[in-house]
Amino acid sequence: MQEEARITCPFCWESLDVLLDLSVPEQDYIEDCQVCCRPIRFRYTSEDGVLTGLEVQQDT
Ligand SMILES: [Zn+2]
Repeated sequence: MQEEARITCPFCWESLDVLLDLSVPEQDYIEDCQVCCRPIRFRYTSEDGVLTGLEVQQDT
């Protein structure tokens, strides 16, 4: 199960559409920004396929 979400890149402040996999209750991974190519850390939680929390931050 996937859901599209809009996030703001913590580096370049561009709005990005990302696909989140909600089949896993907790995710924590790094993905490069599509605009500035810097590493964004994604952390989110979901319950029964519904997004319950989403946080993005600069990977250090
Ligand atoms: Zn960026």
